[in-house]
Amino acid sequence: MISTIAIFVFIFGVIIGSFLNVVILRMKTGRTLGGRSFCFSCGNILGALELVPLFSFLFQRGRCKSCKSTISWQYPLVEFITGAVFVVVYYKTLAGFPFVSPLAMPFYWFIFSILIVISVYDIRHKVVPDRLAFIFALASLVWVLITHNLYYFGTKEGILNLLTGGILFLPFYFLWRWSNGEWMGLGDGKLAVGIGFLLGLTKGVSAIILGFWIAAGVSLTLIVFQKFIKFNIPFLRMKTEVPFAPFLVLGTILAYYFSPDLLSLNVFLFGI
Ligand SMILES: [Zn+2]
Repeated sequence: MISTIAIFVFIFGVIIGSFLNVVILRMKTGRTLGGRSFCFSCGNILGALELVPLFSFLFQRGRCKSCKSTISWQYPLVEFITGAVFVVVYYKTLAGFPFVSPLAMPFYWFIFSILIVISVYDIRHKVVPDRLAFIFALASLVWVLITHNLYYFGTKEGILNLLTGGILFLPFYFLWRWSNGEWMGLGDGKLAVGIGFLLGLTKGVSAIILGFWIAAGVSLTLIVFQKFIKFNIPFLRMKTEVPFAPFLVLGTILAYYFSPDLLSLNVFLFGI
């Protein structure tokens, strides 16, 4: 059932997504978040009608109004995905009512916004920005600390929750060390620290397993496609540099929503 509130949440998410696009574009370029946006081809400063999230892209059919050069699909995609993720958080929070913190919704909106920026940045530049991975890990840790009482941290589950950031970092670290950074960048490991704090051991491990599964599925599909159709996918050509952060983030969002326990599934299937 789609409610009116969900539609407003989606629109809000789309607007935030449009802001995330600006963050992604201007990060590490020395440009601040202030100042007007302009077309990268002709330098035309964008008017109000050209800045409406999703709609401007649709109405202008993906082209600049002045010079007709194509606008990247990144813009509407990030806007749409952010809107959709915001709705997911809204429904998840609603389902947990009244046993969730009133701050849960804005917190997860904030966290997933960071993760979306990290994903797109990784696709564009093949690197997970250290500062964002750090903010993600720190915010997740603070969240765990403020949403549980002291008693929780005396239990096995609570202690594990605090250790999971480090536990999830280790396999990435060893992959990175053993392959001299060829199989995996250390950035994915830094991302895993935040995932560990945010989701705890069971869901955290599930998120990473899901990430690997989806990445493997997508890679195989693309390889098959490339075999049959001469399809030029730039990031597949550089084998060692397939961005993995987007898959980890997708795994995280799925694990957050569905709370799967792939840890026991793996024990059940493989006995490990
Ligand atoms: Zn232009």
